[in-house]
Amino acid sequence: MNVTSTVVGYPYIGAKREWKRTLEKFWKNEITEEQFEAELKNLRINRLKHQKDLGLQFITVGDFTKYDRMLDLATMFNLIPKRYEALENPTANETYYAMARGAKDAVACEMTKWYNTNYHYIVPEYEGQSLTLNGNYILDQFLEAKNELGIIGKPTIIGPYTFVDLAKGYDEKTRAAFFLQLIPLYSQIIKELVTAGADWIQVEEPSLTKSLAEEEILIVEELYKQINEAVPEAKILVQTYFEALTSFERLSRLPVAGIGLDFVHGGKENIKALQNYGFPQNKTLSLGIINGRDIWSANLAEAISTINAVKQLSNAEEIWISSSCNLQHVPVSKKMEENLPQELYDHLAFADEKIREIAEITYYIEKGAWLKEGVVADSLKAIEALAIHPIRKNKVVDDALKLLTAKDFARSVPFSERQQIQKEALQLPDYPTTTIGSFPQSQLVKKTRAAWRKNEISDEQYAQFVKEETARWIQIQEDIGLDVLVHGEFERTDMVEYFGEHLTGFAFTDFAWVVSYGSRCVKPPIIYGDVEWTHEMTVKEVAEAQQLTNKYVKGMLTGPITILNWSFVRNDIPRQEVAYQIGLALRKEVAALEAAGIKIIQVDEPALREGLPLRKENWNEYLTWAVDAFKLATSSVATDTQIHTHMCYCEFNDFIDPIRALDADVISLETSRSHGELIHSLKANPYELGIGLGVYDIHSPRVPTIEEISHILNESLAVIPKEQFWVNPDCGLKTRQEPETVASLKNMVQAAHKLRQQP
Ligand code: GLN
Ligand code: ZN
Repeated sequence: MNVTSTVVGYPYIGAKREWKRTLEKFWKNEITEEQFEAELKNLRINRLKHQKDLGLQFITVGDFTKYDRMLDLATMFNLIPKRYEALENPTANETYYAMARGAKDAVACEMTKWYNTNYHYIVPEYEGQSLTLNGNYILDQFLEAKNELGIIGKPTIIGPYTFVDLAKGYDEKTRAAFFLQLIPLYSQIIKELVTAGADWIQVEEPSLTKSLAEEEILIVEELYKQINEAVPEAKILVQTYFEALTSFERLSRLPVAGIGLDFVHGGKENIKALQNYGFPQNKTLSLGIINGRDIWSANLAEAISTINAVKQLSNAEEIWISSSCNLQHVPVSKKMEENLPQELYDHLAFADEKIREIAEITYYIEKGAWLKEGVVADSLKAIEALAIHPIRKNKVVDDALKLLTAKDFARSVPFSERQQIQKEALQLPDYPTTTIGSFPQSQLVKKTRAAWRKNEISDEQYAQFVKEETARWIQIQEDIGLDVLVHGEFERTDMVEYFGEHLTGFAFTDFAWVVSYGSRCVKPPIIYGDVEWTHEMTVKEVAEAQQLTNKYVKGMLTGPITILNWSFVRNDIPRQEVAYQIGLALRKEVAALEAAGIKIIQVDEPALREGLPLRKENWNEYLTWAVDAFKLATSSVATDTQIHTHMCYCEFNDFIDPIRALDADVISLETSRSHGELIHSLKANPYELGIGLGVYDIHSPRVPTIEEISHILNESLAVIPKEQFWVNPDCGLKTRQEPETVASLKNMVQAAHKLRQQP
């Protein structure tokens, strides 16, 4: 049997985010286009060499991008929306980056989440354009690897079904034409690769893990039949990931030479399918066995036993040992981390360490021995050492969780009664105005925090600065005439990091960046121990702000699910348990805020939707515990304490029921980009609790006029009764400048005043 080591794809950002810097220098015109292309080439070559040095046998090419791989394909297919014709004699790079980031004359393409990851891709727009091939960058990358390094790589391309599935602008009728145009283009790309000497082509089809209707399956079968007829000489491996392959019996039998399956995220289901249907003869099986979504080292013994089971069931003559998905979702290398606890460090595996694991497993499957002596014992030792680390098991937390009963997950009084009691207690005007929490993180705020981090100013000096900035903004909010104020979040850099730094169980890396979209990277904290609340985290700042005003100041916390979904999470206990631990910790903070006299407390959950499983039939399981974690955090408060929450970055149309289940007294939603649709959904599915639809888009410095805001308010009034109606912007204002923030909020308050005067 033939065994080869490979990965679905490898990070392109560079160990120190060199790629990001190259892109940003180019955008700022700090380097010429030639220098830019030369730097990218250098990065590409080093990246391939590096994977080879790590011992990877079959190296992927074509997984390097200049911004986003969906955008790479769209521009290669000449799938360029008409509005970019407004650009004057653009170069290819100018058009490409205009689509990615917008240009003076044309707004950027939409960006949305890549399945259930924290990566966001550029959504291709089909406008019935006639498609042609605009070069073949995959071939270019293949030839570069071949000519410069002598590497015969495995070219990868996002497949036609997935590409269309993730694109927009077509309906049922025009979709067929879209597919028909794409088939010859895909065939051509593949043909050119085969001619250039590619042994295999990896065609990524993650959308084949969604639940597909019969009609869709027929389309997939037809697509691959036609591609196979056009290029029968090509060896195509259809690579799936993030879930088990749907309709295994049929889709594993597509007329292609190989199938790649995720044995981490769809493991059980894929194995069951193999038991039921076997694996088609003469096909290569790529086994995604090393988790491309987490940062933990593998249990090599377990991996081997899974592979052996799969080998037996599949009877495949050739197998590849691979990652469960593209490794772009994990940081590059743990080697640079010098400030982590040893037990944590030893159990980490980022992309490079995962490649080493793949190399080890491959060698073992082939030769029955390990490359490095003792590697299995070491892997078990690392897992064991962390398992017995005291941070892993906190008896206080454990006991408290065991004592929870249903009562701890629910407010004692239903909303209909709370609403009346709160109305009398809080005495807010009709259509109360408020903001989402943060105010501008000005240069001064950032500089002062940096100075404090570098010990250039003392803790007291920093606290004094935060206090003064808060006081200044309390005054500004009073002057604007807002009804419910916030302290402004000047003490926080990031809504997850801030809480992680105060709770137990978190660790912070120095370089563990992953790409979020375009050149933007995030560095999620690691939750590796039990989470416990040990001291007040936000009370001082909020209570100080409250003392400065007679209006209410909202307490401001990040919710348990957002903290969970924006962190790398331990894998030794269920996510649900981690969510409850965080929920319990926040419950203590909520109680502390209440004890300090805070009457309105907001617990943000912008990432609630991000944790949703890919298949809708699995949503409920997740939502049940996710909603419970939020309720655990918020339900202990007195009846007249008002709980707010906030959500953004997500479509709410099919999400009203989960939002209702949170039982938050008030929710503020980002809506200015999809206002109409939400109004429509609220009409069909009326919402009973307090709600504020964002009245302007905070992502732009533009100041909305009173008339515009009034228009949106009036539209919202058609579906939200006055008693429930709140007025707020779309999201936090930390990325905005002060003048536009003040001007926009003044207009918002004026629009609310006008509404109050309406008969
Ligand atoms: N309270 C946070 C802020 O205003 C909420 C941020 C968010 O929704 N992403 O910044
Ligand atoms: Zn938001």
